[in-house]
Amino acid sequence: MEVVFRKLIFILLMIFYCSSIGFSQHIALVIHGGAGNIYKENLPDSLENLYRQKMEEALNTGFALLSQGGTSLDAVRATIKVMEDSPLFNAGKGAVFTNEGTNEMDAAIMDGASLNAGAVSGVRHIKNPIDAAIEVMLHSPHVMLSGSGAEDFAKSRGVELVDPEYFYTEKRYQQLLKAKQAESQEQGSTDQPNKEYKFGTVGAVALDIHGNIVAGTSTGGMTNKRYGRIGDSPIIGAGTYANNKTCGISATGHGEYFIRSVVAYDISALMEYKGLNIQSAADVVIQDKLTKLGGEGGVIGLDAEGNIMFSFNSNGMFRGFIKALNQPNIFIFKE
Ligand code: ASP
Repeated sequence: MEVVFRKLIFILLMIFYCSSIGFSQHIALVIHGGAGNIYKENLPDSLENLYRQKMEEALNTGFALLSQGGTSLDAVRATIKVMEDSPLFNAGKGAVFTNEGTNEMDAAIMDGASLNAGAVSGVRHIKNPIDAAIEVMLHSPHVMLSGSGAEDFAKSRGVELVDPEYFYTEKRYQQLLKAKQAESQEQGSTDQPNKEYKFGTVGAVALDIHGNIVAGTSTGGMTNKRYGRIGDSPIIGAGTYANNKTCGISATGHGEYFIRSVVAYDISALMEYKGLNIQSAADVVIQDKLTKLGGEGGVIGLDAEGNIMFSFNSNGMFRGFIKALNQPNIFIFKE
């Protein structure tokens, strides 16, 4: 009896799966969890497995929504929240520390159908900064809100606030102490706020059954940052961009260079005005332009056909994608 029941469930699942494939040919989801000096030798197997599991969970969470006909906005939100809630990544819980010992987070979202966008910067009490960015996009006439004003707005929209202690993690605090020590040994040089290049920003780009692309990014910024420094992640066109005509992009790396290179928009512009495909466009911007400027990091993205793109000039980038018929594909090191 139990065997028959199991077979029945299996057949029903297959019918559901096959019927879903019919309308989900092009749905796709791509993520990153930061780029930097990530070598196989300095990432213990147990930690590598934790990263792989968490990225798989993030991809499966977002893809489940896309497979049920959900929007790319919902998929990006759900995917990023899985990573924001994990101390493994430099976003939400796990955000790096500023020079003053606080956690100040940035996040952005962009909708490729309407070119509408929302961002928050320098927030200290928002559990999931991506939620606040989405509220800015959907329910305010603005694109970017900062600091306590962003938090007041988020609160008025019912976004969850937490005590700053929520963001404390021992690992990130030790990284701050190390960065400060290195800085004092270099006699206070502040032009490289994080020489270790262990980023960990998170980002996601999704394509839904309606052909809409949404890109989102969330970060704690860079360890030991000061003076209210804001990176590229919440800056539309630098760390985050989406346009249904071209692509969706989320970046990670040394933000100052990504701002100066307008990385995400430049990739889209090369596709729109020069007709480059997404991989070639990203390679021009990352491997050539950004590299020549001295910037380090990478991008993920996808285009309107669901073609997936990764490009980075660091030693590694936590990254992965999932498409119809596929299991999550996770990569960390240079292939
Ligand atoms: N791009 C981020 C910033 O500069 C850092 C990162 O990607 O880890 O704020």
